[in-house]
Amino acid sequence: MGVLLSIDQLAHVLFSPILFYRRASEDETISSRLGKLRLSAARAQCLALGHGEPSPCAPCVTEHARISWKYPLAKIIDAGLELIDPNHSLDAVERDEDD
Ligand SMILES: [Zn+2]
Repeated sequence: MGVLLSIDQLAHVLFSPILFYRRASEDETISSRLGKLRLSAARAQCLALGHGEPSPCAPCVTEHARISWKYPLAKIIDAGLELIDPNHSLDAVERDEDD
Protein backbone atom coordinates (compact mmCIF):
# COMPACT_ATOMS: atom_id res chain seq x y z
CA MET A 1 0.00 0.00 0.00
CA GLY A 2 2.79 2.41 0.88
CA VAL A 3 4.46 2.09 -2.52
CA LEU A 4 1.20 2.46 -4.45
CA LEU A 5 0.32 5.48 -2.36
CA SER A 6 3.69 7.05 -3.14
CA ILE A 7 3.25 6.38 -6.86
CA ASP A 8 -0.21 7.96 -6.75
CA GLN A 9 1.13 11.02 -4.94
CA LEU A 10 4.00 11.33 -7.45
CA ALA A 11 1.60 10.97 -10.39
CA HIS A 12 -0.58 13.61 -8.76
CA VAL A 13 2.29 16.07 -8.58
CA LEU A 14 3.32 15.35 -12.20
CA PHE A 15 -0.14 15.38 -13.78
CA SER A 16 -2.03 17.81 -11.57
CA PRO A 17 -1.52 20.74 -13.98
CA ILE A 18 -3.23 18.88 -16.86
CA LEU A 19 -5.81 17.09 -14.71
CA PHE A 20 -6.80 19.85 -12.34
CA TYR A 21 -5.13 23.04 -13.69
CA ARG A 22 -3.32 23.58 -10.41
CA ARG A 23 -0.29 22.48 -8.46
CA ALA A 24 -0.80 19.36 -6.42
CA SER A 25 -0.42 19.26 -2.72
CA GLU A 26 2.37 16.69 -2.50
CA ASP A 27 0.83 14.39 0.07
CA GLU A 28 -2.54 14.09 -1.57
CA THR A 29 -3.60 11.26 -3.90
CA ILE A 30 -5.24 11.75 -7.29
CA SER A 31 -8.30 9.91 -5.99
CA SER A 32 -8.67 12.36 -3.11
CA ARG A 33 -8.45 15.34 -5.45
CA LEU A 34 -11.03 13.73 -7.78
CA GLY A 35 -13.31 13.20 -4.80
CA LYS A 36 -12.95 16.83 -3.75
CA LEU A 37 -13.91 17.98 -7.25
CA ARG A 38 -17.01 15.82 -7.02
CA LEU A 39 -17.89 17.17 -3.59
CA SER A 40 -17.43 20.76 -4.71
CA ALA A 41 -19.84 20.15 -7.62
CA ALA A 42 -22.35 18.68 -5.18
CA ARG A 43 -21.82 21.59 -2.77
CA ALA A 44 -22.48 24.15 -5.53
CA GLN A 45 -25.79 22.43 -6.38
CA CYS A 46 -26.71 22.08 -2.73
CA LEU A 47 -26.13 25.80 -2.12
CA ALA A 48 -28.02 26.72 -5.30
CA LEU A 49 -30.96 24.63 -4.11
CA GLY A 50 -30.85 26.30 -0.69
CA HIS A 51 -30.54 23.08 1.26
CA GLY A 52 -28.47 24.61 4.06
CA GLU A 53 -25.96 22.81 6.26
CA PRO A 54 -24.33 20.37 6.22
CA SER A 55 -23.38 21.13 2.67
CA PRO A 56 -23.40 19.12 0.48
CA CYS A 57 -26.25 17.06 1.91
CA ALA A 58 -26.30 13.31 1.23
CA PRO A 59 -28.97 13.48 -1.53
CA CYS A 60 -26.95 16.17 -3.34
CA VAL A 61 -23.82 14.01 -3.11
CA THR A 62 -25.76 11.12 -4.63
CA GLU A 63 -27.31 13.24 -7.38
CA HIS A 64 -24.76 15.93 -8.17
CA ALA A 65 -21.27 14.74 -7.20
CA ARG A 66 -20.01 14.66 -10.79
CA ILE A 67 -16.88 16.24 -12.17
CA SER A 68 -17.50 19.01 -14.69
CA TRP A 69 -16.33 18.70 -18.31
CA LYS A 70 -14.11 21.68 -17.45
CA TYR A 71 -11.79 18.91 -16.23
CA PRO A 72 -12.11 16.36 -19.06
CA LEU A 73 -9.18 14.12 -18.14
CA ALA A 74 -10.11 14.11 -14.48
CA LYS A 75 -13.70 13.30 -15.43
CA ILE A 76 -12.65 10.37 -17.61
CA ILE A 77 -10.27 8.96 -14.98
CA ASP A 78 -12.93 9.28 -12.31
CA ALA A 79 -15.49 7.52 -14.54
CA GLY A 80 -13.00 4.67 -15.05
CA LEU A 81 -12.38 4.37 -11.31
CA GLU A 82 -16.12 4.44 -10.72
CA LEU A 83 -16.54 1.34 -12.93
CA ILE A 84 -13.86 -0.54 -11.01
CA ASP A 85 -14.79 0.68 -7.53
CA PRO A 86 -18.02 2.67 -7.08
CA ASN A 87 -17.55 5.82 -5.00
CA HIS A 88 -13.79 5.26 -5.01
CA SER A 89 -12.86 8.93 -5.22
CA LEU A 90 -15.50 10.10 -2.75
CA ASP A 91 -14.27 7.49 -0.27
CA ALA A 92 -10.66 8.57 -0.88
CA VAL A 93 -11.10 12.22 0.10
CA GLU A 94 -8.37 13.16 2.55
CA ARG A 95 -9.83 15.94 4.61
CA ASP A 96 -6.54 16.68 6.30
CA GLU A 97 -4.84 17.52 3.00
CA ASP A 98 -4.85 20.93 1.39
CA ASP A 99 -8.09 22.02 -0.27
ZN1 LIG B 1 -28.37 19.44 -0.82
